[in-house]
Amino acid sequence: MPTPALFKLIGNTPLVQVTRLDTGPCQLFLKLESQNPGGSIKDRIGLSIIEAAEADGRLQPGGTIVEATAGNTGLGLALVGRLKGYRVLLVVPDKMSTEKVLHLKALGAEVRTTRSDVGKGHPDYYQDYAARLARELPGAFFADQFNNPANPLAHETTTGPEIWEQMGHELDAIVVGVGSGGTLAGLTSYFRKAAPQVGFVLADPKGSILTEYVETGRVSDTSGSWAVEGIGEDFIPAIADLSGVRKAYTITDQESFDSARSLLRAEGILGGSSTGTLLAAALKYCREQTTPKRVVTFVCDTGTRYLSKVYNDGWMHDQGLLRREPLHDLRDLIG
Ligand code: PMP
Repeated sequence: MPTPALFKLIGNTPLVQVTRLDTGPCQLFLKLESQNPGGSIKDRIGLSIIEAAEADGRLQPGGTIVEATAGNTGLGLALVGRLKGYRVLLVVPDKMSTEKVLHLKALGAEVRTTRSDVGKGHPDYYQDYAARLARELPGAFFADQFNNPANPLAHETTTGPEIWEQMGHELDAIVVGVGSGGTLAGLTSYFRKAAPQVGFVLADPKGSILTEYVETGRVSDTSGSWAVEGIGEDFIPAIADLSGVRKAYTITDQESFDSARSLLRAEGILGGSSTGTLLAAALKYCREQTTPKRVVTFVCDTGTRYLSKVYNDGWMHDQGLLRREPLHDLRDLIG
């Protein structure tokens, strides 16, 4: 069977400047990872993780790919894995949006939903659950994005060089979120060699322990909960490399969702909830600068998978998050 031509469309995503939001003295650019065929940055690691496992024999024809995923890694693995003929079995925490779960099932992946309200070490915690399934199932390959070096490698070899080229080798800072930490670790490795002056800024949902870790080195044993999907952690992922992070911002769900909605109104870009977190942190960082800087952040995934949440006034109202005008009112959203 020939390799699907679609795989060539993974990566090489466009970069667009934010021109209608207040970026202080800075120029802010968004890397539109939403334009990947599966709709998120995770298509990159879907391909790299599967091809690395095929290359070293951990994944054999007829095998099953197992993963714990907030949805997007599952979508990347399901897209690539199903086209390559593997069974794909995913463990998804129950806070994840219905659109992601329906999309996974439509691709032919099997989905096991588990609790969002338990932490690492609990048998129902999504990662422990997936690791157990992978151990018990013959022919299973545990993609294990939280520990798999093929995850950061995808960003070191594709995302990093793309950004550096697209910015014309003039770049001061990159604003990132951390889920598995793969994006940050891969970009850190790439820029440490290519352009060590590029700094990293962490965008972290309120409730995650990562900001405190960056600021004090302390690993808190108590985390909160947040509604933003795909970023923020209650532990320090093994592959995460936070050593290049110069500044960290804690962003509330309210700020994240307001920013995502403003981005659509002001720039016409429909991003997911974590895009809102990154944009809110990037705008704070840009507005705090006293000299002009060139900054990049990400539209991590498409907002179409959050239409029933972030872009649904009814849901926002039920969450107590509809502070601003409903979506049909354009006032105050620009600037
Ligand atoms: N945004 C979204 C929407 C995600 O799903 C993820 C990954 N879970 C991230 C950002 C974070 O990326 P990484 O895992 O590379 O830290």
